[in-house]
Amino acid sequence: VLIQSGEFVVAFRPDTEESRIEQMNIRSQLELAVDRDELSFVLQPKVNAQGELIEFEALMRWEHRDGHVSPASFIPMAEEFGLVTQLTDWLLDAVAEFQSQPLRPGQSIVPVSVNVSARDLERGDLVERVLKALSRHGVQPDCLGIELTETALLGDWDGAMEQLHQLRFWGIRVSVDDFGIGHSSLSRMVDLPVDCLKLDRSFMQGVTSDRRRLMLVRAMVDLCRSLNMQVVAEGVETEAEVTRLSEFDGLLFQGFYFSQPLSRIACRRLLGSAASS
Ligand code: C2E
Ligand code: CA
Ligand code: CA
Ligand code: CA
Repeated sequence: VLIQSGEFVVAFRPDTEESRIEQMNIRSQLELAVDRDELSFVLQPKVNAQGELIEFEALMRWEHRDGHVSPASFIPMAEEFGLVTQLTDWLLDAVAEFQSQPLRPGQSIVPVSVNVSARDLERGDLVERVLKALSRHGVQPDCLGIELTETALLGDWDGAMEQLHQLRFWGIRVSVDDFGIGHSSLSRMVDLPVDCLKLDRSFMQGVTSDRRRLMLVRAMVDLCRSLNMQVVAEGVETEAEVTRLSEFDGLLFQGFYFSQPLSRIACRRLLGSAASS
């Protein structure tokens, strides 16, 4: 496509222009998603070796008029467009609201973790935003956790550390997500003020066929235990994996083998049956 502007002839490669228009489109669609009530979330259980429910992770969903969009594609775009903190705030509020409605008065609440992005930490006000969502719905801080990746910590390390300390001071659980595939040094990770490491799914692939993979997971579990951190094995898909990983005391599991992410209604049903058994 050639566009004549004054004396200049500006050439656009068709695919570049299209993708730019597409990006503009997605941006405005994302900006509208909250108002149009297109966002929702599902909850995936984290369980112990006995399959008992310990915690949930909240995963965002976007039902656009033209179909479902995966968070693996819209979250990175929201980060690029500077919209992700709005999405985080929406989810913090929605999860706090969910947690404010136990099935029965006095029933103990299963904590829910929310993923936060590097942008949320960079702004420096994450602690206030989390506390505000909690107090708006009268929810205790131990009902909520946050998950962040190693790379989210790399920008302003000291600022991030301060916020993590604050979150934990208030009793909000902090997990490091996708652990082991980022580039942070082990010595730094040892200093992290976090409650839990989530071992990336890529480590689970291979634990049944490759002894060294299994030894690597063992070493990480041992290290975490001696540092008083909990460990979650992410993306566990097969019985064989679970059998292998069950030899590690205290390891928690999250993955399709135990459960797909569940709708809020399905969660309530699960909580109801757990409470009555
Ligand atoms: P994540 O935080 O690592 O979340 C786990 C992802 O793995 C989820 O995909 C989940 O459905 C999927 N998963 C769970 N068990 C298994 C399994 O056994 N096998 C396989 N192959 N996958 C499994 P989902 O929901 O599509 O989310 C993708 C990513 O998008 C998340 O990865 C996270 O990085 C991001 N994301 C999702 N929701 C949010 C959000 O509310 N805020 C932010 N900042 N990021 C989010
Ligand atoms: Ca996560
Ligand atoms: Ca993860
Ligand atoms: Ca991931």
